[in-house]
Amino acid sequence: MNAFPSKLPHVGTTIFTVMSSLALEHNAINLSQGFPDFPMDPDLIGLVSKAMSAGANQYTHMNGYIPLRGQIASKIERLYGASVDPETNITVTPGGTYALYTALTCVLHPGDEVIVLEPAYDSYIPSIEVNGGIAVTVPLQFPSYSIDWERVRAAVTTKTRMLILNTPHNPTGSVWKASDFLELQDMVRGTRILILSDEVYEHITFDGYQHQSILRYPELRERAFACSSFGKSYHCTGWKIGYCVAPAWLTKEFRKVHQFNCFSTNTPAQVALATYLDNYEAYESLPGFFQAKRDYFLELMRDSPFAFLDSKGSYFILASYKHFSQEDDKEFSVRLTKDHGVAVIPVSVFYRDGKDDKVIRFCFAKAEKTLEEAALRLRKLR
Ligand code: PMP
Ligand code: GLN
Repeated sequence: MNAFPSKLPHVGTTIFTVMSSLALEHNAINLSQGFPDFPMDPDLIGLVSKAMSAGANQYTHMNGYIPLRGQIASKIERLYGASVDPETNITVTPGGTYALYTALTCVLHPGDEVIVLEPAYDSYIPSIEVNGGIAVTVPLQFPSYSIDWERVRAAVTTKTRMLILNTPHNPTGSVWKASDFLELQDMVRGTRILILSDEVYEHITFDGYQHQSILRYPELRERAFACSSFGKSYHCTGWKIGYCVAPAWLTKEFRKVHQFNCFSTNTPAQVALATYLDNYEAYESLPGFFQAKRDYFLELMRDSPFAFLDSKGSYFILASYKHFSQEDDKEFSVRLTKDHGVAVIPVSVFYRDGKDDKVIRFCFAKAEKTLEEAALRLRKLR
């Protein structure tokens, strides 16, 4: 059979699968891929079982179970003061990644440019390129990972169709400030640039910081897809369920693609979440819950040789090792997994050109005993 040209010739296997497999193979503690190793709320499990027993086992509405969309709209009003219509603005999806992919697919034509701030979550560039788009990368400023707005402005051309933002940010834990959104608003005013706002860690922010959702900004909201993930908010990443909020004109295009890709999202999970969203405490407690984990991990690692960078949100923290090893970050991460029994993520994989600042990413969304054992192993490193 004749080979066909790959649509993604430069893409291999995602680092999350590579490192989690390596962790398994070497029986290492897995602080690489971002997922909790502690149990989710049994009440939510109970609600799914109840939904299944009650017969909620067939397709639900293609745009999402209607009561769940109503609950999402109320939450957005409550948290971000935005009035969104469940009918025309909210689509429930099988995960946040799917929502991002669908937004890119419904918008991009071959040759369209998308501005991507690096380091960037690893699905963005392949999702742009598989749709014929061109990723135009702009680096965040190491080591604060703040945005150099002059550089972002300089990346805009007549072909710029979209900009992707992510706050709280994976992998760095940096967050967008209100002033960043005002810069963005100013930059896109009068242009046709759309925004794809990845907010899957919207409930995981630290040190009193209030999440700056794009939905708080009426002018930007008119040109934005905002994507969220219940997997991140409710410790159930394996459920793969999220949603996209966008104005009616963008939602219409989003749904044209969505209806022929998965059509509709898991019904019993949606029925359960529709009730569970009454429990505000479940997401209001997340900042304190994860901040305590971040701080506990840092305390345990105080005598380790790593120099930690600031994490203001997400469930990740970066650490530099350049003062005690000159290995590249991939080699270093593999050695840490194989020889020291702790798997981490090398940050260079989040740059298209593999920029290596000698920093690695730890996921601290783990049980205390997991963090303790990992720290015990890592403190021995010199
Ligand atoms: N965006 C970012 C930045 C993420 O870290 C994740 C986590 N996997 C996702 C999107 C996707 O979330 P989901 O598992 O709901 O697809
Ligand atoms: N978002 C998770 C992370 O950054 C992983 C999700 C995945 O494996 N695709 O670790």
